[in-house]
Amino acid sequence: MRTNTDGLILKEQNIGEKDKLVTVLTRQNGIVRAFVRGAKSLNNRKNSATGMFCYSKLSLYKTKDSYIIDEAEPIETFFGLRSDLTKISLAQYFSELVMTLVQESEPSGEYLRLILNSLYFLANNKLPHEQIKAVTELRLMCMAGYMPSLVACERCGEYETDTMYFDSENGLLYCEGCVSSNALFALDITLVRSMRHIAFSDFEKIYSFKADANSLADLSYVTEKYLLSKMQRSFKTLDFYNSVGKL
Ligand SMILES: [Zn+2]
Repeated sequence: MRTNTDGLILKEQNIGEKDKLVTVLTRQNGIVRAFVRGAKSLNNRKNSATGMFCYSKLSLYKTKDSYIIDEAEPIETFFGLRSDLTKISLAQYFSELVMTLVQESEPSGEYLRLILNSLYFLANNKLPHEQIKAVTELRLMCMAGYMPSLVACERCGEYETDTMYFDSENGLLYCEGCVSSNALFALDITLVRSMRHIAFSDFEKIYSFKADANSLADLSYVTEKYLLSKMQRSFKTLDFYNSVGKL
């Protein structure tokens, strides 16, 4: 059976001397693993269109137990990612997140839209890295069914106090009067507003908020801790991204 779809290449592995196996986030079929026959042959047009982080039009052929990419034509290659180790490591982390959270055969238009936007902002230096990371992490968690409870204090319903406290394990928020554990993250209210913005805004607006570098670092730290505690695992690509930042 043949399907035409668009998709973003998240992973590339060589198979023998000529073929490769790619993992793709497709609009129609969720995460798909597909062979590209002859990709490594000289002048194969499919090779660049099935390279890492390439967003392409794909013609997929489904055999009994695998997919084959018949045709591939690039739409966007995100060339700007390739010159910078920090950018590439963050993009690899986004790929690993998507491969973990999105199921096979699940229609994935919303996931695709999020990751394509994040890669666009990253490749074209449109926003600080920490901002792109925080938006991607938190919105992805919300889309995957792990929306934290950010509307008001969990205990008394207070909407805002100057500082609020976030329980990253349970995704709950507490006000100044109700916080009972010093293990929770103290968040300036502007940071809580940024998290609400990312979680609750219409998609078109999720990247557009302003915060200084310190706040963005805190935001990115909190969204990361929340994601890791919900996923109950580590991500090698995230460890690498964080180690690159310290070089
Ligand atoms: Zn309270």
